[in-house]
Amino acid sequence: MAKRDYYEILGVDKSASAAEIKKAYRKMALKYHPDKNPDDKDAEAKFKEAAEAYEVLSNADKKARYDQFGHQAFDGAGGFGGGGMNMDDIFSQFGDIFGGAFGGGGFSGFGGGFGGGQRRVKGSNLRIRVSLTLEEVANGVEKKIKVKRKVQAPGTTYKTCGTCNGSGQVTRVTNTILGRMQTASACPTCGGAGQSIDKKPSNADAQGMLAEEETVSVKIPAGVVDGMQLKVTGKGNEAPGNGISGDLLVVVEEKEHDTLKREGDNLHYDLYVSLPDAVLGTSKEIDTVTGKVRIKVEAGVQSGKILRLRGKGIPSINGYGSGDLLVHVNVWTPKTLSKEQKEFFENMRSDEHFEPKPESSDKSFFEKVKDMFS
Ligand SMILES: [Zn+2]
Repeated sequence: MAKRDYYEILGVDKSASAAEIKKAYRKMALKYHPDKNPDDKDAEAKFKEAAEAYEVLSNADKKARYDQFGHQAFDGAGGFGGGGMNMDDIFSQFGDIFGGAFGGGGFSGFGGGFGGGQRRVKGSNLRIRVSLTLEEVANGVEKKIKVKRKVQAPGTTYKTCGTCNGSGQVTRVTNTILGRMQTASACPTCGGAGQSIDKKPSNADAQGMLAEEETVSVKIPAGVVDGMQLKVTGKGNEAPGNGISGDLLVVVEEKEHDTLKREGDNLHYDLYVSLPDAVLGTSKEIDTVTGKVRIKVEAGVQSGKILRLRGKGIPSINGYGSGDLLVHVNVWTPKTLSKEQKEFFENMRSDEHFEPKPESSDKSFFEKVKDMFS
């Protein structure tokens, strides 16, 4: 039997957000719930179908697999097989969907309401990008970030919502052949907060809020990665009334470094040495994330040799040590020579010292790379 597309089942399109998917499923679950459709096999099948679709689309991992492979993603091991979900599985989802009121107990307590009281409205999150140098990433940094956030305007007062009498929800009673059925939903006037505006200053918006610029100090730990998101709790928009503030989400952006290239917690540096330096040995100053250091280049160094400076990379974000700095030696071969230099090298062509005789310690570049990551 061919399965229907999960998005089609919930009536959302592929770009739907997690909130839209949740909302769509909620609607389906209420419509096809067995308590409302007793002995209706078709409704029961639709109820189960919707639950299965939601189980997949509400889980980022499963959703990604489904988006890529379709129903095949769950055939066989670990999937739902063809059996679908049982009613216990479905009801256990409801804690998440209906705010905990149903627990695992099913629907019979419906008249009891959505958690038995008002919910606290949460202000929206703010998102801001912060650009860091590699040195800041390596050492950690405290950044002062200017954000424009909504705050409650001074002088705004609230009163108990007249529509819901402060409960945050409205109850509708319908008479059916099975008896009275109660449904509860968030109050349309106050959005579930249980309060509405009493007085507000003229410069505040309809919810009694003002936009205010604030400087927020954000501690960025060492080892963050480009694209990582840090959360500063409570520094997003405030909510009206007795609601709780949203969060400030700080998205990390890493600036490119002039000479150091990052790869995970390791850093790479390309060191160029002249032919005489490679032959005779030298010392060279190189960049690290904690300043310049001088390193020794042995006489007879080969191009492609990798010098490992342990612990000179980026600290692990989890706090387990640091990566290394890998210095790649490149011997610079001159392209133009004077007449005398040319003669010198002509004479060296047949010299046995210039004959390549690689030893096991002079492994090829690819073998070294293989060693390094094994
Ligand atoms: Zn209300």
